[in-house]
Amino acid sequence: MNYFLKILGGGREVGRSAIEVGNSDSSIILDYGVNFDEKDNPNFPLQEVPNRVKGFVVSHAHLDHVGALPIYQIGSLNTKVYGTVATRIITEVMLKDFLKLSGSKIPYEWVEVRKTMDNFMAIGYGEETEIDSMKVSLYNAGHIPGSSIIKVSSEKGAVAFTGDINLTETKLMKPAEIESIGNANVLVMESTYGKFNHPNRKVVENEFYEKVLEVVESGGTVLVPAFSLARSQEVLSVLAERDFPYPVYYDGMSREITEIMLGFREFLNKPDLLKKAYDNFNYVKGWEDRHRAWKERGVIVASAGMLKGGPAVYYFKKLSESSKNAIFLVSYQAINTPGRRLLEMGKFDEYSGLLKARLEIFDFSSHAGRRQLLEIVKSIKGLEKAVLVHGSPDNETSLADLIKQETGVEVIIPENGQEISL
Ligand SMILES: [Zn+2]
Ligand SMILES: [Zn+2]
Repeated sequence: MNYFLKILGGGREVGRSAIEVGNSDSSIILDYGVNFDEKDNPNFPLQEVPNRVKGFVVSHAHLDHVGALPIYQIGSLNTKVYGTVATRIITEVMLKDFLKLSGSKIPYEWVEVRKTMDNFMAIGYGEETEIDSMKVSLYNAGHIPGSSIIKVSSEKGAVAFTGDINLTETKLMKPAEIESIGNANVLVMESTYGKFNHPNRKVVENEFYEKVLEVVESGGTVLVPAFSLARSQEVLSVLAERDFPYPVYYDGMSREITEIMLGFREFLNKPDLLKKAYDNFNYVKGWEDRHRAWKERGVIVASAGMLKGGPAVYYFKKLSESSKNAIFLVSYQAINTPGRRLLEMGKFDEYSGLLKARLEIFDFSSHAGRRQLLEIVKSIKGLEKAVLVHGSPDNETSLADLIKQETGVEVIIPENGQEISL
């Protein structure tokens, strides 16, 4: 039988990850996520005839990998979803939050989110699960807790999908277990940082800590805008490891997510550090705490990471007008976000005043850089094709050139809708 891959999302774009693997009778879909246009409207992946789809396997709980799953639970549909137990529980939190923030722009409702969770089967790393004529295994991808490399084997050989992947050890995550992939004919790989290498992680952590300390010791407050899932916990762990001697506040969904993570210690690299942060740092419970937190010298870690709303915007407005304070960004700042405009124009938007607080950005990325992506390609035995997804076209082209130069592997940069035969 003829097997193929079909790119339903994530072709020449970051996010909206969705890759179909199958034959003319049946298929499975790896990830089913969303991304957002300039006006913040969600884009959903292409759809496949529902009765062909025997199940979804998801790499991790970021919305750009799971945000569209409930579409296959509408009406009488009851499609099975597979992923790690940590991914299952965090996915529920993410989908609920997505509905709360963007409900009117989403083609499903609460009942479909509920059904997604009911149909979600948790599978462990290294276990083999059969879905129709295919066998699926997951391995730690090093990106966020629960994140997985997905390997799909059929009579036509094996496809490995990186999901989002990181080979650098962080406080939260052990590096991706690429050696467990073994043989694969085709690798579908993210290419978010196909053009760039990240600086040494230890150096970044030390520099971040020293600068935070410097600002606070001279009487200022540091705002660290950070995504509630993973980046907040990473920053809190860095501060906890060094026994930061001033108050640390954290605000947003990060409390709930931290508690979930502490329930799955086996998915964390240094669970004791996160527990220490949870025990010693202060969670902002409501407006009373919020009004107080920014008046103290110390650190506030708050969502959203790109200042697109959330408590970080409130703190930003309070802290940005004094040169004693600092705004330390720790996430990539996507185009058309307030964080990006801040970096480019030195102000929050066209109406606000110029920023007086100190502004810096630190690279706490949870994605592999260029050399690491090449290392992944080289580590797989019997590889014939590398399919680059989840990257901007310039990142993908640049990475493709490097892979072609250094290996004999064929490289494909597919568009959405493109089929690749196996
Ligand atoms: Zn992603
Ligand atoms: Zn991700």
